[in-house]
Amino acid sequence: MKDIRNIDFVELESFVIQNGEKKFRAKQLWEWLWKRGASSFQEMSNLSANFRNKLSENFTFHSATIIDEIISNDQSVKFIIQFHDLKVVEGVLIPQKDRVTACLSTQIGCPLACAFCATGTMGFIRNLHYSEIIDEYLLLNNRAKEIFNHSITNIVFMGMGEPLTNIDNTIKSIEILTSRDCFGLSPSRITISTAGIIKGLKTLADKNLRCGLAISLHSADPVIRRELMPVSEYNSLSDLQKAISYYHNKTGDRITIEYLLLSKVNDSERDAELLARFCRAFPVKINIIEYNPTDNAPFQKSDAQSREKFINILNRCNMVVNVRHSKGQDIAAACGQLVKKKRI
Ligand code: SAH
Repeated sequence: MKDIRNIDFVELESFVIQNGEKKFRAKQLWEWLWKRGASSFQEMSNLSANFRNKLSENFTFHSATIIDEIISNDQSVKFIIQFHDLKVVEGVLIPQKDRVTACLSTQIGCPLACAFCATGTMGFIRNLHYSEIIDEYLLLNNRAKEIFNHSITNIVFMGMGEPLTNIDNTIKSIEILTSRDCFGLSPSRITISTAGIIKGLKTLADKNLRCGLAISLHSADPVIRRELMPVSEYNSLSDLQKAISYYHNKTGDRITIEYLLLSKVNDSERDAELLARFCRAFPVKINIIEYNPTDNAPFQKSDAQSREKFINILNRCNMVVNVRHSKGQDIAAACGQLVKKKRI
């Protein structure tokens, strides 16, 4: 049996008509699925019991559940979300003044194995289907309302996985999140973060979803970057630079460059100069990220002095720089700390 959320509206409509129901029932059903966030046929109260039974005889309805949640001292909350096959991902809610940001996963595990990231140590398990990404949003949004009295205002695809190696599902989930007929969120409040998959960046540029784009660069030296991020062997820095220019020319957007400062690895004056040079070809905002310790990784965060020096060089090159302090470190919910631990 097919999952009800794996079919499009046309197919849904023909099922409705074939089963002797009025055409407008398809719209009601669609709303339950993509606007009201139903997780079973039973709760679709404006459909007849008879029709709900027919639906459950013909389709499965995979739903996800939160199986654990942990609150950080800084108020961010990490959620463990389980899917129908018992596989789990992590999602995080980060409250700030008048906003609540949800950090969503796009894959179970990750294929990229970046040296500094805990998720990479899990290996790649599977892609999330777009309906599963929407489930993450729905579950976290319900909890955001309960915990913070506020719906989710912003979404960052910075949880587990590489969005651009699951690009079709990521794009489809964004289309559903932003469509007026579904959740109607503003695309400017959604950010995709990628390690820099060239092919995916081109697709994204051509799609022009109007979302924010963040590139996890972490080094503008080809040799260092290849060591930190094996993905750059087939997605070279020079191709990445061209792909970002292409993206900028297509969308007119300023791109965010994420740069994780690792002591004595990528935080020298030369590293800062290389970074500034890499960014000269397009307008960017550079986010300096503090390293979050992960189990067994041989890295340390840069000391304050090296960080200051690094930032000064960028400032001198007229770069816009922000320093990001991670949230949720005490509960391993911060960037790069999301990994399925054994106790779960
Ligand atoms: N695969 C995507 C999104 C997931 S990671 C990407 O690479 O962008 C989200 C961000 O956290 C990335 O910038 C990633 O490089 C960063 N990150 C990974 N491990 C980290 C760690 N230990 N400390 C701080 N940031 C980390």
